[in-house]
Amino acid sequence: MCSLFLTLDAPSQSPLHFCVPNAYICYNTDTDTLDFHMLRDVKKDTEITVSYFQDIYALTQRQRNDRLRKWGFSCTCSACISLPPTSCTLPPDVRREKIKSLFSEVDQFTIARLENSYDPRPDPRGGANISNQEVHVILDNLKEIIRLMKEEGLYGLAMSQLLEDHAPLHDETGNPEARRSQMAEALRIRQRCLGNFHPSTLELQRKIDRLH
Ligand SMILES: [Zn+2]
Repeated sequence: MCSLFLTLDAPSQSPLHFCVPNAYICYNTDTDTLDFHMLRDVKKDTEITVSYFQDIYALTQRQRNDRLRKWGFSCTCSACISLPPTSCTLPPDVRREKIKSLFSEVDQFTIARLENSYDPRPDPRGGANISNQEVHVILDNLKEIIRLMKEEGLYGLAMSQLLEDHAPLHDETGNPEARRSQMAEALRIRQRCLGNFHPSTLELQRKIDRLH
């Protein structure tokens, strides 16, 4: 059996913060438990670490430490004090700025679609006044966000939600198989963060089952 350990920071009684955590902490309403799920394989005797922020993937080192000040410490994890692993192509802050910018573009696109859906003079071809080309750009943005996050192990629920919310765009490009594939990726990430039996994971599984 693998041995892991967890340190609770006094006086907050919080697990150790890490900017590229190896675990995700979540509350399970079905079991009324606070659960930890490992985001990656770790060696024996590794300390379990979590992120104190849900949007850790989009925060630069300075932004993270501004927020951590209320806990009374500055982070000295590897993402804060050293270079990323050699497999990573971007410095940590550059990666996070890029992810934030791509998220922002996707958000603007979503807002534009919502506004257009309430346009009293809709596009006569039906649907929102968003071109097919823009849909492809957003789908490419999604792929790049996921690539950038995965490359440094920045797993989080936001990834899963983003993929799920925008999976229907593939129908507009005439590629329903890509929609199913994107939903399956959303599920894999949710399972990693919340486990296979969390209510949110099971709900997403049911949505995917209905697509078949
Ligand atoms: Zn850090």
